[in-house]
Amino acid sequence: MKNKEFWFITGGQHLYGTDAFAEMRAHSEEISAYLTSKLPCKVVSKGLVTLPDEISAVIAEANYDKNCAGVIMWMHVFSPSKMWIAGLKALQKPMLHLHTQYNREIPWDTIDMDFMNLNQSAHGDREHGFIVSRMGIRRKVVVGHWQNEDVIEKIGSWMRAAAAWDYSNSLKVARFGDNMREVAVTEGDKVEAQIKLGWSVNGYGMGDLVEVINAVTDAEVDAKMAEYAQKYEFNTDNTDAVRIQAKYECGMRKFLENGGFGAFTTTFEDLHGLRQLPGLAVQNLLADGYGFGAEGDWKTSALTAVMKYMAQGLAGGTAFMEDYTYHLEQGKEMVLGAHMLEVCPSIAAGKPKIEVHPLGIGGKEDPARLVFDGQQGRAVAVTLLDMGDRFRMVCAVVELNKIRKKMPQLPVARVLWKPLPDLAAGAEAWILAGGAHHTCLSNALTVENLRDFAEIAGIEFLVIDENTTIPEFKKELMYNDIYYKLNR
Ligand code: MN
Repeated sequence: MKNKEFWFITGGQHLYGTDAFAEMRAHSEEISAYLTSKLPCKVVSKGLVTLPDEISAVIAEANYDKNCAGVIMWMHVFSPSKMWIAGLKALQKPMLHLHTQYNREIPWDTIDMDFMNLNQSAHGDREHGFIVSRMGIRRKVVVGHWQNEDVIEKIGSWMRAAAAWDYSNSLKVARFGDNMREVAVTEGDKVEAQIKLGWSVNGYGMGDLVEVINAVTDAEVDAKMAEYAQKYEFNTDNTDAVRIQAKYECGMRKFLENGGFGAFTTTFEDLHGLRQLPGLAVQNLLADGYGFGAEGDWKTSALTAVMKYMAQGLAGGTAFMEDYTYHLEQGKEMVLGAHMLEVCPSIAAGKPKIEVHPLGIGGKEDPARLVFDGQQGRAVAVTLLDMGDRFRMVCAVVELNKIRKKMPQLPVARVLWKPLPDLAAGAEAWILAGGAHHTCLSNALTVENLRDFAEIAGIEFLVIDENTTIPEFKKELMYNDIYYKLNR
């Protein structure tokens, strides 16, 4: 993500003469350099544009530049917007409109008409906002001085989303086996997903994967075991079962690397040629940034890959997750989240333990897996649904709690959380929205990151948080249905 560029385009015009151009260019350079020092990606000043051809040229260049993940526009002075129509019509990259001013404060004692004319974003950016709205172009608007922390944070959130959008559009997902039979919510239109989100999702026979796994050497397995010993605590004597997972991981990793895949799925209903359901193997791949969805859930797999990309460098983790079981003690209601095996150790509170236990489902050998308790703090649980005529993203805010009980009979990674505003309203809203049991859970990302991403992608976005009330949420669902039917 560090290598992605965001182009800073400053707008002006010739009305006041060209004397001020050098000063405006210098401001553009200074602001870009400052933003670069504070943000996860590089902000590159593209100088000042003052004529229709210049505007169209820089936008055309942005569209075709592979490193450019978005454009940031700012009208230093008034920049008549009919000059921008051709350029904006061609714009294909995410856009942020930074409504700022070089000077933080009005120089009360010296202010004159020259200052007024040079620091004109207050009306230049309104003209710009009009044409972008008139043309129906999605963008994020950020208001405030460019050195303010809240301004930097908002730009940073969008920058992560825009960089993840760039990644999303080249994401390849390998499906080992099909979806779990008869399951609806994890299904969807893969062609539409590629059109809307850029995901190339394709299936591979288990035989193709098993062939790669069988070619893994003992030396490769030894090296992988050494890596496990360094990262995790062995809480089993069944080394043979762990070696099988090490071999699976080496094989899967090769398969994914050779095909350029960023995400994958497995299903316990199709494990031909494998003795165990991949558990530890999947968990260690997730820890390295691969997306994963169990039971053939390619939507959650791709979403997890995108969210992991977006969260690079942030504290906390991002994991494939499932709402598994409830604690319904009145007033202390909580969700216990887990999966059969495949929870990412990036959300582990301590050093995960490698254990080998029987698996009730699938009829295979006892699989090795990582067991741990999850971290605490605020997190988002995100799901992506195919509603038939559109993709809907639901983002729920949850509070991750400390797990105070030992649960000695539960041999999986687990996370305990309280949905907001509480389990009753949170789960009711989730179910009304059609939210899945599979999610991507992240205590690294925020609602704003996901909202920015959904807006860039142009997909429906619903939030469930401390402000959610069921009557209002129902209205939002109803209005959205109408909106998307009108805008098909
Ligand atoms: Mn599942």
